[in-house]
Amino acid sequence: MFDIHATHPMPTTPRDPSDGVSCFPFTDRRAADPQDRPLRVAVLGSTGSIGTSTLDVIESSGGRFQAWLLAAHRSVESLVAQARRVKPAWVVVVDEQAAAQLGSGSLPPGTRLAVGADALEKLVRDPAADRVVSAIVGAAGLRSTWAAVEAGKTVALANKETLVMAGPLVMRLAARSGGTILPVDSEHSAIHQALCSGRPDEVQRIVLTASGGPFRTRPPESFAEITPAEALRHPTWSMGPKITVDSATMMNKALELIEARWLFGIPAEKLAVMVHPQSIVHSLVEFVDGSVIAQLSPPDMRLPIQYALTYPARTMGPARRLDFTRPMTLEFEPPDTERFPAVRLGHEAAARGGTAGAVLNAANEEAVGAFLAGRLRFTDIADACAKVLDEHPFEAEPTLEEIGRLDAWARLEVRTWSAG
Ligand code: NAD
Ligand code: MG
Repeated sequence: MFDIHATHPMPTTPRDPSDGVSCFPFTDRRAADPQDRPLRVAVLGSTGSIGTSTLDVIESSGGRFQAWLLAAHRSVESLVAQARRVKPAWVVVVDEQAAAQLGSGSLPPGTRLAVGADALEKLVRDPAADRVVSAIVGAAGLRSTWAAVEAGKTVALANKETLVMAGPLVMRLAARSGGTILPVDSEHSAIHQALCSGRPDEVQRIVLTASGGPFRTRPPESFAEITPAEALRHPTWSMGPKITVDSATMMNKALELIEARWLFGIPAEKLAVMVHPQSIVHSLVEFVDGSVIAQLSPPDMRLPIQYALTYPARTMGPARRLDFTRPMTLEFEPPDTERFPAVRLGHEAAARGGTAGAVLNAANEEAVGAFLAGRLRFTDIADACAKVLDEHPFEAEPTLEEIGRLDAWARLEVRTWSAG
């Protein structure tokens, strides 16, 4: 049982100002942070949607932050352009063939090149890295995130798949190493902020909001005909292709339920989802007295990224702001789980724990890939995930190795299924 009281002691009420806020995970990093130089940030997945927004935040920070390391898979051109702009100490290309395309002299003076996943893992542990932004997409993000947490870093976590796959292990690792995981996912950032209004034992319910994606009102009879191009058009957020498809199936909300379960140590039955098409209320926390605390802002990931980097401080930043001189309508409705069965799978996997999250995540990654490649229909994604989740040899307390094995097994199951 991963109880936030156990791993992160909470101040007792009434609060003494020196206790700070009672949100999880509370650590006043300001005291420990060096004051005489910028904080050095390692950006894993720097060429992606979150990575690009992170560089925006760093470049708008007035020297508070400095990009120390940029890492990506194989998008060498974007990496070089970023490196020329922000002049990091390190650039890491994970794919060796892609790295071979990098001509000598393409990086700015003072920037060194490292190649491969092992090199990335080693650099992430370097004492020079003050903050690590984990923004690699999918299960590929687990290894470097694990290394950062193990090295006791403060990790701004966008890669929700890490917690979906191995939440209990990662949270236990953080408790042991003294590492801190701060959410970048906008819902979890909102929850983190709302939790500051009370104590963990006063939380009645956590409600994650969901945009509902592009097919919220589309007739369900036509769901099987949805094309990748249609699924990649998100109404409110601009994101990488995998999470955009996850939003269209609402599997993203399933993954986020599991992420919240482990990150906040909240029992699955206290987690709920509400569809909120405007994507302005990023999530809500209901306390035992009936008060509901929410966090609002336009859909702009630069705010939760910045919050994770500056916490527990707040600073001015580049994110868009709400305009209170204009009318604003906020709507909420419960999710339609007939249309979006993925939401049910998320509740199920959050409640079961163990290997359920890892298997769901792997099956989904494989199925989304097959859908984007035209090998599976849109509706097959949730069907494949349900089947694999149902049939997998469940293990309640898996090791990281067992998680890895089941991840591979689930992918193979989906591949076989989509071929047949
Ligand atoms: P993206 O596809 O835009 O970018 C992915 C990045 O990861 C790229 O820089 C790519 O080079 C890198 N990458 C991919 N495979 C890699 C590998 N094997 N090794 C090293 N680097 C690799 O994705 P994104 O939308 O920025 O999402 C990144 C993560 O953040 C995902 O886990 C996603 O769920 C999460 N997230 C994204 C958003 C958003 O608004 N985009 C919001 C919340 C959470
Ligand atoms: Mg989210």
